Amino acid sequence: MKTISIVIPCYNEADCIKLVYNELNKIFSSQLSQYQMQVLFVDDGSSDHTMREIKDLTEQEGEEKVKYISFSRNFGKEAAIYAGFEYAKGDYVAVMDADLQHPPALLIEMVNCMEKEDVDCVGAKRVARNGDSFVRKVFSNVFFTVFNRITGMNFVQGMTDYRLMKQKVVASILSLQERERFTKGIYSWIGFHIKWIEYKDVERKAGESKWSVRSLWNYALSGVIAFAVVPLRGIIWGGMLGVLVSVIYGIQLFVHSVTGARPWQDTTTIILLLLFLGSVIITILGVIGEYLARIYLEVKKRPIYISRESNIIGEKLI
Ligand code: UDP
Ligand code: MG
Repeated sequence: MKTISIVIPCYNEADCIKLVYNELNKIFSSQLSQYQMQVLFVDDGSSDHTMREIKDLTEQEGEEKVKYISFSRNFGKEAAIYAGFEYAKGDYVAVMDADLQHPPALLIEMVNCMEKEDVDCVGAKRVARNGDSFVRKVFSNVFFTVFNRITGMNFVQGMTDYRLMKQKVVASILSLQERERFTKGIYSWIGFHIKWIEYKDVERKAGESKWSVRSLWNYALSGVIAFAVVPLRGIIWGGMLGVLVSVIYGIQLFVHSVTGARPWQDTTTIILLLLFLGSVIITILGVIGEYLARIYLEVKKRPIYISRESNIIGEKLI
């Protein structure tokens, strides 16, 4: 019998814990009854009675079915997911939100897909998010378009964190050692075969969203910085452009003063020097930044590659 671990990050979700658990329980006692369910709640430093709800469940349902980790403070959803993965021992591991915005019933389709097709991961893709504010919609649209452009990742519009993975995918996610974890980027970086399943978006069942426009902005920024060297390249190109412009401008002024069209003035020299030196400094900053980026990527100590399948058994050559 295969086990499916379900990792659920919870931050002030007291009203949702039992709702989501009951839904899962229903599914695993009917359509997915041939699988063993293991729910892993990660309490991300909640200040309400989320933990009490979880402990109630543990007593009711037994330690086998309900596991939990509770953080000392709020570390964020990314950290919660990471912690959940560390303890998720199932053959398949799912991650879903506590608020039922990731419909547990979709898990049935995900599991079927995983069994029938040669994929390692099944992700849920949201179509039309009605409850969202206009600002948020625009923001997420712009974010994905720009992000893909500059990082070369293949993010899918509407992709969510809701997914089902084989154990080996989880192991490779854990093998990325960086502190600042941008999970969506990590999923994309590790590769593997993924299939997207669409679902209609739903409103959260209880409690309220933990994301503000500010935290979304921070999330986006850390995503770009964690994966992209492009902003730094931009600085170098900008600096070099400035140098070019100042040289052309200088030549033009020189020609003018030789032909007598416009006499050379002291201020001209100063303006030219300012423009030129400024651009040179910006270029140098960009170059230094480029080295910094290399160091940054290097200290992450990521694995050089991740293998999906292999028929080599035994020792490595070196
Ligand atoms: N969450 C978390 N830590 C945080 C913020 C959120 O573990 O600091 C969890 C939250 O409990 C929920 C999931 O992440 O299970 C998604 O959060 P939310 O529903 O607030 O986000 P939204 O659906 O609005 O994007
Ligand atoms: Mg939500």
